[in-house]
Amino acid sequence: MESKKITKLDDGTLNVPDCPIIPYIEGDGTGPDIWAATQMVIDGAVKAAYGDKRKIDWLELLVGEKGYEKTGEWLSGKALKTIEDHVVAIKGPLTTPVGKGIRSLNVTIRQKLDLYACIRPVKYIDPVPSPMKSPEKIDMIVFRENTEDVYAGIEYSSGSAECEKVVAFLRKEMGANIPEGAGIGIKPISAQNTKRLVASAITHAIDNNLPSVTLMHKGNIMKFTEGAFRIWGYEVAKEKFADKTITEDELWKKYNGNAPEGKVIIKDRIADMLFQQVLLRPDEYSVIATPNLNGDYISDALAAQVGGLGMAPGANIGDTCAVFEATHGTAPKYAGLDKVNPTSLILSGAMMLEYMGWKEASTAIRDALQVTVKAGIVTYDLARQIDGAKEVKCSEFGKAVVSNMKKAG
Ligand code: NAP
Repeated sequence: MESKKITKLDDGTLNVPDCPIIPYIEGDGTGPDIWAATQMVIDGAVKAAYGDKRKIDWLELLVGEKGYEKTGEWLSGKALKTIEDHVVAIKGPLTTPVGKGIRSLNVTIRQKLDLYACIRPVKYIDPVPSPMKSPEKIDMIVFRENTEDVYAGIEYSSGSAECEKVVAFLRKEMGANIPEGAGIGIKPISAQNTKRLVASAITHAIDNNLPSVTLMHKGNIMKFTEGAFRIWGYEVAKEKFADKTITEDELWKKYNGNAPEGKVIIKDRIADMLFQQVLLRPDEYSVIATPNLNGDYISDALAAQVGGLGMAPGANIGDTCAVFEATHGTAPKYAGLDKVNPTSLILSGAMMLEYMGWKEASTAIRDALQVTVKAGIVTYDLARQIDGAKEVKCSEFGKAVVSNMKKAG
């Protein structure tokens, strides 16, 4: 089998060869442990689903601490270009080098590659301990805008010359009332970036037959940023998906609350209210599309509702390429101990296989994970919460998942 790159066709669909070359970044801290387990599980799933007909040719990228040690660079332009050229990549968590001139390698990767949608599915795996009474009702997917909002990095510290200049302008020219000594941060939210994010969330809902897309915003207070996000979200639904979507307003006015077959309902909720609703009535929410900061908060809160960060996968997707990654950080105190839970990265791998159209392999992973956890074979984080569970190492957990795949096959 000849190794080849995945390519993207003009219509945005992927052309995936039987032996695609997929770049990976092992990650820092516990990254090497969870990556080793994940790679074993992904390879096992591809084998279980397709035998010798398909295989992944992994290509390591030296990024983060390993990159710095071996090449003197934390994140090279060459590594970014390789990801772009190969269309699909996967990464472990990376340490943010403090005081070394880089804000965050993770944020840099997302911004440089214009990976504008941070996608985080949240679904319960039985019997993972959860603070919810009925965690099985949680089946949501957050589409978080990744490139703007207060994450754009336009900030000026209190007392700096830049800050004084901005404050003076706002006071003098705009009549703004700003307290003495305040620091300033700017929150840009644009129509084009909102619309491409919301369009990708609606496309996902349509392709997967999901009932609704909720625009989560704080537009009652921040009218021209979060409020505009809401308006532009509804606009793009009308402009691009008029035949496949209805608003919640139309649902009640025209259809008496009964959603017609094949239509995705577009609704909106104010951010603070949605935090209540996902606790009280989680089954009323499916896809959530939201600006950057709200998305950061709600995806971690939802992850906690289904058992914590060790269980939460993620993907960063743009028009040219996609990078799949665990939601959690490097958990440095456990580095090299072969201890932490690799499920977040394993599930990110399952998302990657789905994105490539290798659905059978992705299903093999999800089924085997469910069987393994249900049998009480779990890493320390879950073992400490499940009575009678058998605590295993990170690598042993990976092996157990693969062996459960073989049994299923
Ligand atoms: P963290 O690495 O996510 O770890 C915080 C705690 O979460 C751990 O001590 C552990 O809790 C739990 N945890 C995390 N991953 C786990 C896993 N796989 N299995 C089980 N439990 C897990 O957060 P942090 O300590 O704030 O951040 C450390 C570094 O990671 C920083 O340099 C940060 O910048 C970076 N970071 C990277 C990313 C990324 O690459 N996308 C994301 C976030 C943070 P217990 O101690 O209770 O067991």
